[in-house]
Amino acid sequence: MQKQFLTLFLVAMTTVLSAQITDPKATEFYEPVPPKVQAAPVTTPPPSDAIILLGKGADATEWTNGSGDAADWTVEGDALVVKAGAGAIKTRRTFGDVQLHVEWRSPNEPGKEGQQRGNSGVFFHECYEVQVLESNGSDTYTNGQAGSIYKESPPLVNVTSKMGDWNSYDIVFSSPVFNGDGMVVRPAYVTVIHNGVLVQNHWEIKGTTAYIGLHKYTAHPETGSISLQDHGNLVAYRNIWAREL
Ligand code: MG
Repeated sequence: MQKQFLTLFLVAMTTVLSAQITDPKATEFYEPVPPKVQAAPVTTPPPSDAIILLGKGADATEWTNGSGDAADWTVEGDALVVKAGAGAIKTRRTFGDVQLHVEWRSPNEPGKEGQQRGNSGVFFHECYEVQVLESNGSDTYTNGQAGSIYKESPPLVNVTSKMGDWNSYDIVFSSPVFNGDGMVVRPAYVTVIHNGVLVQNHWEIKGTTAYIGLHKYTAHPETGSISLQDHGNLVAYRNIWAREL
């Protein structure tokens, strides 16, 4: 009897897991809430062997828009600011395993909440997102807050600076490896340090970031562009540099 129940249970579970998920809420989690930690952004100047992707004066020549034309986000001093509706920008160079330093600042928009407040993102291979969000004064699902691997892994702690203040990300990304048949030989891994504090510790990425449904891999070349998301919020970026690993 017990064996029969177990068989039925396994069949039911398989059916549930293979059913197509159509509700975005199915992959949003609210607990446990990562504890808040206060820390300041780390504004490390580029080391001598780094590729400067966004330096003084926010020279955007290393970036293109989705069509391959010059990136047309707004330059404000040393910062490059999202131009709402212009779309994501991506690096002209492509990267495999990489160490990336990024500084970002949420805009002042107290009238907005959750995913609508200061949303952007740093994508590796244009498809694996480290979330950028104003998560100091506004709540959302924990696997979608700042420092999360979007809809996969909440940050270990919430280190987000106050709205309108700068944050830093230091990210170590290991690219996935696919065989000739497009199967995953080695998944991608990511470590994220937010304002000097570890928030993702060698997380094994489950696949391409998706708003709806479970993540799964789609084979891609060994190297790819790093992209920054236009989610309609005027998030600013500065001092971006990369070290190829
Ligand atoms: Mg985002």
